[in-house]
Amino acid sequence: MSQVKNTKPGEHKHCQCQDTQNHFLERAFESLKLEAAQRELLLAPFRETIVSIPLLTRRAEGGNLHTFMGYRVQHNHARGPFKGGLRFHPSVNLGEVRALAQLMTWKTALVDIPFGGAKGGIAVDTNTLSHHELEILTKRFVQKMELVFGVHHDIPAPDIGTNPQVMAWILEEYSKTHGYTPAIVTGKPVELGGSAGRLEATGHGVAYLTGKMASEISLGIDNASVVIQGFGNVGFHSAQGLAAMDARIIALSDARSGVVCDKGINIEQAQRHVAKTGWLENLPGTEPVNNAELLELPCDILIPAAVEATINCDNAEAIKARLVIEAANIPVTHLADATLRERGITIVPDLLANAGGVLTSYYEWVQNLQEFPWDYDTVLRRLEQRLGRVYEQVRDLAQQHNTDLRTAAYELAIDRVNKAVALRGF
Ligand code: NAD
Repeated sequence: MSQVKNTKPGEHKHCQCQDTQNHFLERAFESLKLEAAQRELLLAPFRETIVSIPLLTRRAEGGNLHTFMGYRVQHNHARGPFKGGLRFHPSVNLGEVRALAQLMTWKTALVDIPFGGAKGGIAVDTNTLSHHELEILTKRFVQKMELVFGVHHDIPAPDIGTNPQVMAWILEEYSKTHGYTPAIVTGKPVELGGSAGRLEATGHGVAYLTGKMASEISLGIDNASVVIQGFGNVGFHSAQGLAAMDARIIALSDARSGVVCDKGINIEQAQRHVAKTGWLENLPGTEPVNNAELLELPCDILIPAAVEATINCDNAEAIKARLVIEAANIPVTHLADATLRERGITIVPDLLANAGGVLTSYYEWVQNLQEFPWDYDTVLRRLEQRLGRVYEQVRDLAQQHNTDLRTAAYELAIDRVNKAVALRGF
């Protein structure tokens, strides 16, 4: 099994996430001239909840009874209810969840939706559980988190290892005690009040911004070569959106393996292969490549769409792309970020690049509260309009302050949260 450098489950990755986030924030704090006390307040999480979930399993390692750890970190709700995904992955831990919760605060502020930031998850390898066991695990997690969740308190959504089915179980469990409550969770199946377009929203936004960014740096998207790490919800829909713009997707990977084909990979065929075999491995018409090699392939556009810190000190000098689009959260460490910038590689930061997901989650929540569904075209048109506008604000501020897109995005977001905190009083 191929491994990404420095990203074995649980191995210092959460430290890298927090370190990275802190460095990025420091640049923006300096530029905004925030005092130490303000910085401290903005960094502090509002509440951290840890639960244990015992489960009798047939397949999980360690015998029949297994105790899983679940987390929810609520970072800041000055601008609205806490909002953020739930991740089911073996490497989930408090440090990682804390860093990702904080990132959600800045992301919701950047796209200017009335939410704060949160994140959660369970440390579990879902491949070791049956469908039924996963349902029980999810519902027990909701039972224990019921007090911190709420339509106007904290609204979860999908992330790595979770999907519309998991969101449906959350809705069901929460509704048992609160009555039918679709607005408690976003990313649900459309049949249960999910929004048209939510499933593809994050990847659609990634593809849309990639096209916009490519034209800004005079890189024609038509036939541009694209490498994507991660072929889950975000990776697949990003690939599909870019293929529709006639970009050439030359390499893809998942947690196990990668595949490469210079002529371009047929995305629908790759998806059918994964649906049938579980992995990209042995995709007809492609050559194998491991995750470390994949990131260093010569290409125009590199899209990390898997886990954190995959672009780090070990490989930053070897990245050959002109454009890095952070579809994943925190995929580039701060040291790698500095190296890439020095080498003239443009980075579209996570809080902007993958914000289409939370933006459409907001649209879903609004539709649920109003009990008035929008059609697919309306959702995607609003998504593109908002993302495009936010991108232009970030670009203009970056030019004005002679800084990079990430620092400008953080400046915009932090300023909004800081003002909301001050207005509400201490
Ligand atoms: P997913 O579970 O649907 O897919 C994850 C993909 O990454 C899978 O192909 C998996 O095999 C692969 N992967 C896992 N570990 C890997 C590793 N170590 N190396 C290479 N590949 C690995 O998850 P997703 O929803 O597509 O999320 C991907 C990223 O996008 C995450 O960073 C997530 O936080 C971020 N994100 C997701 C959403 C959303 O709406 N789902 C929104 C914003 C950001």
